This record gives sequence, C-alpha cells and structure tokens, in this order.
Amino acid sequence: MNYQMLLEISINLDVKTMMGILILGNLALAFLTLQYYLYHESDHEKLLIKRFGIAKILQATAWILLFFRGDISDIASVYFGNILLFFSFYLDSLLVLRMNKITKKIWFGLQIVLLALSTIIFVVFEILLGIGNIRIAIASLGVFCILVIPNILNITNKQSSKFEKFIGVISLIFLMLLLLRAFTSLFNEDISLFTNSIFQSGTFILLLLLMIVNGTGFLLIMYERSYALLRESSNLDPLTQIHNRRFFMNKADAYYQRALRGQESLSILFIDIDFFKKVNDIYGHLFGDEVLKIIAKVISESVRPVDLSCRFGGEEFLTLLHNTNNEQAVLVGNRIREKIQNLEFEENRKFKCTVSVGVYSGQPDSDRNIQHFIDNADQALYRAKESGRNRVMSL
Ligand code: GH3
Ligand code: MG
Ligand code: MG
Repeated sequence: MNYQMLLEISINLDVKTMMGILILGNLALAFLTLQYYLYHESDHEKLLIKRFGIAKILQATAWILLFFRGDISDIASVYFGNILLFFSFYLDSLLVLRMNKITKKIWFGLQIVLLALSTIIFVVFEILLGIGNIRIAIASLGVFCILVIPNILNITNKQSSKFEKFIGVISLIFLMLLLLRAFTSLFNEDISLFTNSIFQSGTFILLLLLMIVNGTGFLLIMYERSYALLRESSNLDPLTQIHNRRFFMNKADAYYQRALRGQESLSILFIDIDFFKKVNDIYGHLFGDEVLKIIAKVISESVRPVDLSCRFGGEEFLTLLHNTNNEQAVLVGNRIREKIQNLEFEENRKFKCTVSVGVYSGQPDSDRNIQHFIDNADQALYRAKESGRNRVMSL
C-alpha cells in the first residue's frame, strides 16, 4: 500500500460513519465501565470508574447531537453538541487530575476557567461568523486546552507509574496533532462538518485514536492499580499492617546474598512478647490484638528504612539489620526492649508489657542461608526467656 492509496482511503472516509463509530465506541466504553462499577466488589477507585462511565455517556450524547446536524435545530446540534463535547472532555480532565491525586484547588479552578473560555469563545464566534472551518478550529483548540494541562501533570507526576506516563505521552501527541489541525483548518477554504477531506478524516481518526487510548488506558491503569494494591496487601500482616513472614523470607534471601557478596555482617533480632498468653487471659483477646499492633509499630519504626521487620507469627517478630555487627544489634535490641517497656496503653495505662530478644550476628557464608541466622536467633531468644525475660541475649 503506497502513500497515494492511504491518502485516497483517508479522503474517502465518510465523516458520518466515523461519528457513528465515536458514538458507539463511547457508549460501549460507558457500558463496560458501568457494568464493572455495578458488579465489582472492591471499593477501590469505584468513584473514578463511575465518573469515567458518565463522561463517556455525555461524549456519546454530544456526538449524537452533532450527527443529526441539519435534521435537528442548530441550537441543539451546533451549540449544545459542541458545549457538551467540551464538558465531557472537561470531566475527562478532572478524572486525570483525580487519578494523579492532585488536590490543589487551583488546578480544578483552571479547568473550569478553560471550559468556560472555550464555551464562550465558541458561542461568540458562532453567533458573529458561523463559519465552518473557524468552528472546527475553535472546537479542536478547546478540546486541546481542556486536556493538555492535566496530561502534562500526569507525565511529570513522580508517583505516576511508567504505564500511566506512557498513556499520558500518547494522549499528548494526539492533542498536539489536534492543535495542528486547529491551525490548519483556519487556512483552509470553508468546510463544514460533513465535508469529506483529508483534514476532516484526519481529525476524526485522531478523535477515534484518542477514544481508544483513553478508554483502554483508563481500564488498564485501574487494573494496574488494583493489582499493585493486591500485591502490597499480600505482603502485609492483616492485623498489624507490617510485613508478613512470606515477604520477609523472600526479601531476607536477597539481603543474605548481598551481604555475602559485599562480605558484610548481618544481624537477626528474634523478638517475643513475654507472658502474652496471660495478657489474653486477663485482658481479653481484643486488648491482646491492640497490644500486638502497637508493639509491631514500635518495632518497625525503630529500625532504619534499609532494614527489614515482620510479624513472624503469633506474638513473635523478626528484624533483619543490614550491615550491622553483634554489638550494634544488641544496642538496637535493647532500644526496642526499653521502648516497649515504657509504653502506655490507651485502654489500660497501668498495663506493662515486656519483650525478650534473641540476637544472632555474623558474616554470611555460601554454605549456609538465612534460616541458619534465624535458628540461632531463636536459640538466643530461648536463653533470654530462660534467664528471666525482658532482656536481650545473643548467641
Ligand atoms: P513467653 O514469655 O514464654 O513467650 O510466654 P507466652 O505466653 O508469650 O508464650 P506462648 O507462646 O505460650 O503464648 C503466645 C500467645 O500469643 C498464645 C496466643 O494466645 C497469643 N497470640 C498469638 N497470636 C495472637 C493474636 O493474633 N492475637 C492475640 N490477641 N493473641 C495472640
Ligand atoms: Mg512465642
Ligand atoms: Mg511470648
């Protein structure tokens, strides 16, 4: 297929057919997202999904009004159709802001101003001139202005995933082409919405691609986010919200290998709450749970971000201290032990809780693995319990 043929196909694309595709495409997207909204059990991002569906219904309605240009009054078709189109892209733009967790009022305010300006300029020029190519130029320019800033914010947002940025870049490229289209249409002879030309087809192809990228991009981003949430929660202990044993064991192996390569020392703290059975027996299981949550928080906040801690099971916690020798690890263990001893509990200020800590430190060697460190820290813990509890012992 050569360039000439492509050009010919583009020129012969029927504008009404392409508008029909925009109507059906937007309705299909709305149907899909609203079904997802109704039947999806998780509350995650539900509001965003609903808003996306509504924006697509409005967009489809706008295209229906434009489709019937000539059959219905110009007020309904030209004015209301184009204004509704601006408004639906405005809703899309708010969605991009919300997806990027942008909360500053100024950005939302700016979007309202852009929507109002696009609408006013469109109406004024329509009343004064009513020329086809100027109308198309203003409509394209309006859509560009409404969508451009949120997309740039999305691309520059540090928290956006690579995929979100990619979708942002693609959308921006389409918007740039739309801007180009707005300017070229000014220098064309008068065309109407239904004139078949390479420029008209080009605009509709852009709008179709924008719809596809925007729709599939949105759904894939929602999926990416739920998946990230699921993955994150599968690494956390549901009660204490610190890492669980599975996550710890996966990571600890990598830490072990890294320390082995760098010939660094590694320390494991095995922390166990003293007489915890009695806490449950005397104060009840619910209070026991609260104690577990608070102690977990103290432990995870007492180590550096490079270290690793987890709820190993029941009332036992493990901490892996990166590049730390025995002397330093005992200091950390004592710091945690003292903090817990000094804790005050909201529901019962008189209640005191202590922990025993077993420490094992050493340089990894290739014949052993992290389990060897954990077993030795467990033995050290046993000794701490034997010699009276509320103490740190190392092997
Ligand atoms: P020691 O000083 O020897 O460690 O005594 P202990 O009572 O702490 O030791 P033991 O291992 O016999 O008991 C641990 C208790 O921890 C038993 C169980 O009731 C309690 N426990 C384990 N998981 C939970 C939990 O999720 N919530 C609550 N409330 N208690 C838990
Ligand atoms: Mg125990
Ligand atoms: Mg215990």
